[in-house]
Amino acid sequence: MSGQPTFLHELVGSMSQGAAGNPTVAMIEAAFGHHGLHWRYINMEVAPEDLGAAVRGAHALGFRGFNCSLPHKVTVISHLDGLGESAAVMGAVNCVVRRGDKLIGENTDGKGFLKSLRSVTHPQGKSVVIFGAGGAARAIAVELGLAGVRKITVVNRSEPRGGELVELLRSKLKLDAELVVWRGDYVIPAGADVVINATSIGLYDAEARLSLDVGSLKPGMVVADVIPNPPHTRLMRDAAERGATTLDGLGMLVNQGVVGVEYWTGIEPDATVMRTALERALRL
Ligand code: NDP
Repeated sequence: MSGQPTFLHELVGSMSQGAAGNPTVAMIEAAFGHHGLHWRYINMEVAPEDLGAAVRGAHALGFRGFNCSLPHKVTVISHLDGLGESAAVMGAVNCVVRRGDKLIGENTDGKGFLKSLRSVTHPQGKSVVIFGAGGAARAIAVELGLAGVRKITVVNRSEPRGGELVELLRSKLKLDAELVVWRGDYVIPAGADVVINATSIGLYDAEARLSLDVGSLKPGMVVADVIPNPPHTRLMRDAAERGATTLDGLGMLVNQGVVGVEYWTGIEPDATVMRTALERALRL
């Protein structure tokens, strides 16, 4: 046998732990089916100690790329040939793309968010408040910084974690970034254009409340949530009631899938088809 092995289908997939039932499969394969692509997206459960062998295996088997989720998002980097711009800044990869013979790490979480944001406003020059400083917040803040926002205020419960993100934004992106240590109900400053919940508050709990003065949510603001399930979080409902434009976490999840499919296949998939498949898989 010489050259790349030939498969009936092109392969991409997901390397994670506890991958069983991953609804992403339904979403990505719906795009492949809709666009007549003979591709498959396969869940692969990979233990941390096997990650290097798994990446080499995917390369040898001709995979066109793969997603990786926790606990592999940082450790995968040492097994790749290079990184995209935002993945290099944030130091985390959730999407690997085969470019020529090289496996390049990208981060589509922030790019998915940005795609959702661009559907309602331009990020350039905007003042952003982001709750949280974990992986999702980092991915979103870095992507927003690269897209030209004017200022990012990070509101986080833990000071060290919040400080680390602010320092990264200042040092690597030369961004006007400040930390607010989150104590009590936060009042959104009047000049904020975009407000984002990037904490895990609200996951599987539609009534969970962000410690926030909802009276400071105003018409004209864009209010976004990373929580995909349930998509109608309390924050989304409160913001809509006060006349803000809302972006739910399901849209971000769909859009990170859209960006992944674009990277792997070169086609721009139909996001509506993907969202419908994801909603069905999540029984929403
Ligand atoms: P991390 O564990 O890395 O970070 C969690 C963040 O939430 C931290 O900033 C933490 O604050 C904060 N937090 C958690 N609970 C509370 C609380 N009770 N009060 C105040 N702050 C709190 O998680 P990730 O960043 O990886 O993920 C966050 C959420 O984003 C998850 O629910 C995940 O499902 C969602 N997500 C959605 C995506 C999408 O495409 N829609 C993509 C990626 C993630 P502290 O530092 O003080 O602990």
